[in-house]
Amino acid sequence: ASLQKEDLTTEGNSFKGHDMLAPFTAGWQSNDLDPLVIEKSEGSYVYDINGKKYLDTLAGLWCTSLGGNEPRLVAAATEQLNKLPFYHSFWNRTTKPSLDLAKELLETFTASKMAKAFFTNSGSEANDTQVKLVWYYNNALGRPNKKKFIARAKSYHGSTLIAASLSGLPALHQKFDLPAPFVRHTDCPHYWRYHLPGETEEEFSTRLAINLENLILKEGPETIAAFIAEPVMGAGGVIPPPATYFDKIQAVVKKYDILFIADEVICAFGRLGTMYGSDKFNIKPDLVTVAKALSSGYLPIGAVMVSPEVSDVIDSQSSKLGSFSHGFTYSGHPVACAVAIETLKIYKERNILDQVNRIAPKFQDGVKAFSDSPIIGEIRGTGLILGTEFVDNKSPNDPFPPEWGVGAYFGAQCEKEGMLVRVAGDNIMMSPPFIMSPEEVDEVYFCVEEPRFIPS
Ligand code: PLP
Repeated sequence: ASLQKEDLTTEGNSFKGHDMLAPFTAGWQSNDLDPLVIEKSEGSYVYDINGKKYLDTLAGLWCTSLGGNEPRLVAAATEQLNKLPFYHSFWNRTTKPSLDLAKELLETFTASKMAKAFFTNSGSEANDTQVKLVWYYNNALGRPNKKKFIARAKSYHGSTLIAASLSGLPALHQKFDLPAPFVRHTDCPHYWRYHLPGETEEEFSTRLAINLENLILKEGPETIAAFIAEPVMGAGGVIPPPATYFDKIQAVVKKYDILFIADEVICAFGRLGTMYGSDKFNIKPDLVTVAKALSSGYLPIGAVMVSPEVSDVIDSQSSKLGSFSHGFTYSGHPVACAVAIETLKIYKERNILDQVNRIAPKFQDGVKAFSDSPIIGEIRGTGLILGTEFVDNKSPNDPFPPEWGVGAYFGAQCEKEGMLVRVAGDNIMMSPPFIMSPEEVDEVYFCVEEPRFIPS
């Protein structure tokens, strides 16, 4: 092996120049990498390779909802591995866990009716699948020009070519010749940052809905196939929707016969204190994307849920158009499905929504108590998701010079104190495991004490 465990335990930059091309990581060329190497997890904590313990307020990557060592998930995986580690789901062959999971998953979604589930390995693949489903659907309906997608600035929908195109983060487009030509972006619904002087949240939402309608009219409604949105924007900075936003946006989308895709990859299964973000904001989607907490992050799995209307069209037209020729070797992987079934069972048995709603006010109110700091512009979130934005003079128009690295400094301070957060520029994000205890929330307060916010 090119790397031994001992290589990682010495002080300094022992891990420099390792062999992995790491995702979303700068420094390949300069050999400057010195990553934090995580070795073990336990409840809401992870341990690095030197044995240091961290409160993991990001739940891995917004995913380990049941924490780091849920024995029932390990048992479910082991049992399935012993029975049938793999079989595919192509050509009318499949496995019992994938059939069972489809049924269980569809039952969890009640905001609108969902008829079918399609399995993928990730959220990105699921959003790519959404695009192909929608295109197939419009081809089946004889509307070959209704193919464009509208997504939102600052959204994150994944990093495959299509999912990155839908995403509204410039870093995902620059240097990759993206977004793809069929994608348009509309406003980011961040009230604090983008509202006009004197504009209420409701008025802001009305303006954004008018802008969306104008974009649709400019492009031609007959060319717009679908609108995709995260109920609460995650990676773009944790941005909950302003009041009345989704009501107004849905009215516009419906008016022009445009499908609504709820990207619930972060919001699903209880993070917001409701089973889905759609429940919280009265969204009635035609298509839903899930991943992450579907298996508590223990194995890679994502899924698309499809409304009866869309699935009926696809079903009834497949004799004319040919089968829906799309899928992955590991679509409906039996071990991932077995773990996901057990995850959903645990959510039900342990009343996970009650658990989240018990802990969320302490988490939200406690961190929001730091809102008065002169270098914090906004602390925002709901349930167990929270974003903190550092700016000068509390103004969205006064960012700190990027070279100061205020967010990175805060992230490094937290890491030193034994807490992991997500840093994106001067934005700090948290989305802890659903099982977080009150004492662990106290630890969060300790780590975000105001003095630690001030850059040296
Ligand atoms: N959609 C949303 C809302 C996400 O937050 C993410 C990942 O963070 C994705 C899609 C992509 O999921 P994956 O990383 O599993 O491809």
